[in-house]
Amino acid sequence: MNNDISPHTARRRVLVVGGVAGGASCAARLRRLDESAEIVIFDRGPYVSFANCGLPYYVGNIIADERKLLVASSATFRERFNIAVHTETEVTAIDRDARRLTVRDLRTGTVRQEPYDVLVLSPGAAPIRPPLPGVDLPGVFAVRSIPDSRRIRAWITDRNAKTAVVVGGGFIGLEMVENLIHRELSVSVLEKLSQVMPPLDPEMAAPLAQHLTAKGVRQHLGDGLARIEEQVDATLVVVSERGTRLPADLVILAIGVRPETGLAQAAGLRIGPRGGIVVDAQMRTSDAHIWAVGDVIEVQDVLTGQETVLPLAGPANRQGRVAAEAIAGRATHFRGVQATAVVGVLGLTVASTGASEKGLRRAGVANFEKVYLHPGHHAAYYPGAQPIHLKLLFSVPDGRILGAQAVGREGVEKRIDVIATAIQFNGTVHDLAAAELCYAPQYGAAKDPVNLAGMLAENVLNGDMPLADWQQLAQMRALLVDVREPDEFAAGHVPGAINLPLSQLRRRHAELPKDREIWISCGVGQRAYYATRFLAQHGYQPRNLSGGYATYTALKAAEMVP
Ligand code: FAD
Repeated sequence: MNNDISPHTARRRVLVVGGVAGGASCAARLRRLDESAEIVIFDRGPYVSFANCGLPYYVGNIIADERKLLVASSATFRERFNIAVHTETEVTAIDRDARRLTVRDLRTGTVRQEPYDVLVLSPGAAPIRPPLPGVDLPGVFAVRSIPDSRRIRAWITDRNAKTAVVVGGGFIGLEMVENLIHRELSVSVLEKLSQVMPPLDPEMAAPLAQHLTAKGVRQHLGDGLARIEEQVDATLVVVSERGTRLPADLVILAIGVRPETGLAQAAGLRIGPRGGIVVDAQMRTSDAHIWAVGDVIEVQDVLTGQETVLPLAGPANRQGRVAAEAIAGRATHFRGVQATAVVGVLGLTVASTGASEKGLRRAGVANFEKVYLHPGHHAAYYPGAQPIHLKLLFSVPDGRILGAQAVGREGVEKRIDVIATAIQFNGTVHDLAAAELCYAPQYGAAKDPVNLAGMLAENVLNGDMPLADWQQLAQMRALLVDVREPDEFAAGHVPGAINLPLSQLRRRHAELPKDREIWISCGVGQRAYYATRFLAQHGYQPRNLSGGYATYTALKAAEMVP
């Protein structure tokens, strides 16, 4: 327990830099554990404890009243928790030897020293502004604070803005797209990578890209920002690296964030290879008197074991709590992250947890397998079932769950949350297959999509459903058989496939060769599985193309199959 009593005062003095997700959580939790400490929060912005995650919806006027973004005010902290809050007060230096901060009152310019016994850093991450011509022009915005959002709202209203370019197709970029469309702007996205939503595998991002196109969002993928020009009429033109010119009344820069490590670096705290402050499992930095939490730190990815930065609100809040417990002398520790996240875009929900396939390959993990499935979000017979496109990654042969991604209109995040929880308990696909989940027709199915994902993966592991790799289609020597009905086959099929419907397979299977692999597909994978089981038990060499034609079209859209 860090029971140091202040050399400066009789009470232990805990100073917190940054009073939003991580900092505010830490301060409030610490007060619940320790009535005796003096706790002070500094934030250079005008507010503490505001809802950063709500900012895009304030721009979109879905949250119309700015006050709704204020989760807790300085007065709440003072009255409820006896925590002093100094807003518009920037911490400019840490003197570790003297255990003192230099702070500047941004209203008056006054500079003063603040002694500490314990220091908690939660300064967050700053939006990246690339050093390119025009990024500082009026009308070019990043979204981090309430004043940022207020400025964007005012710009849209005052200029009667009609067109916007969002640079960056990640979480924040896409949330801004949704909200600008809600404000009836015509929106284009410029994204350097060849897909939107970079954390997803490309074929899982493809349905989202198609959805955006259907909603009128123009996407310029695989093309970066070169510069922004101002026109004579004060409107802007975004010029891409490939020379595409995109006119805009406003531009949103959402190309990622960078941990705000300036203070920590200047004070000589250890910074990790990913650019965040290095902390231990109790969020303590390389200085025993300084803790750090939130977007500014590096954390361990529990699936790859690698250090990473993960700028999300959930981890920041939990880390704040862990730091408070550690400061109060409790033996809590932070478990690491697995990147569970969700975003809603114009009626579509995209969620993921754990590692992606490309992340596993980057980390050098080879012994894994994947299944695709496209079940309805509830029982098909109950009106309104919507497909969920789900990809599950698991290790072979032990079946440990490595990650999952899902896209759909309903029930998406619920499935990913279940799988995320299973990952936290080191669960396997067998646990998913056996999970007892809620079911009534309007909510799920007797075999929930989570159960189905686990069962499919079990079928792979126990050899009941040998998989074929869609991406090997071009090189294959196998016979490709589509077991859907002729009308479905005629409506669209994988080039080179022959059609032998499941309904005719029992009487016509002798038409198939036994000395050659048979790769089987259908609409979403279910009939192909039945066909695989039938053929395997009749001496054929079947393999299943996971996810059927639905997966093929997503892979095709992502240009992952010819
Ligand atoms: P912050 O919450 O950013 O707080 C840092 C504070 O420190 C800031 O107020 C800053 O002014 C202050 N500060 C920095 N330096 C100093 C200094 N030297 N002196 C004084 N004060 C300082 N996450 C999700 O999980 N889901 C979402 O839907 C989601 N949506 C988001 C939408 C937007 C537009 C943004 C910007 C973020 C979103 N996030 C979301 C991310 C989430 O908000 C962050 O991960 C989280 O707020 C990080 O908490 P933090 O305490 O590390 O930093």
